[in-house]
Amino acid sequence: MANIIHYRNKCIGCGICYEMMPENWRMSKKDGKATLLKSVLKKDTSILPIHPAMIPEAQKVAKACPVKIIRVNEF
Ligand code: SF4
Repeated sequence: MANIIHYRNKCIGCGICYEMMPENWRMSKKDGKATLLKSVLKKDTSILPIHPAMIPEAQKVAKACPVKIIRVNEF
């Protein structure tokens, strides 16, 4: 198993995560920040459990985020 973790309050709204993985991300029309779809919010941090097959793609997105606020935790 793995989780995508998103520290949303530090998002600068560049849209790269949405462009790379539109099935998991949306750009908010309210505040311009990215939202991790279907995630659970815990203290400003969005957490989404993902299938292990999605790990490489999620890691590419995490690496591409210019402010490094996306993490992929494997466990
Ligand atoms: S790539 Fe990072 S900074 Fe850019 S919209 Fe996504 S989470 Fe925000």
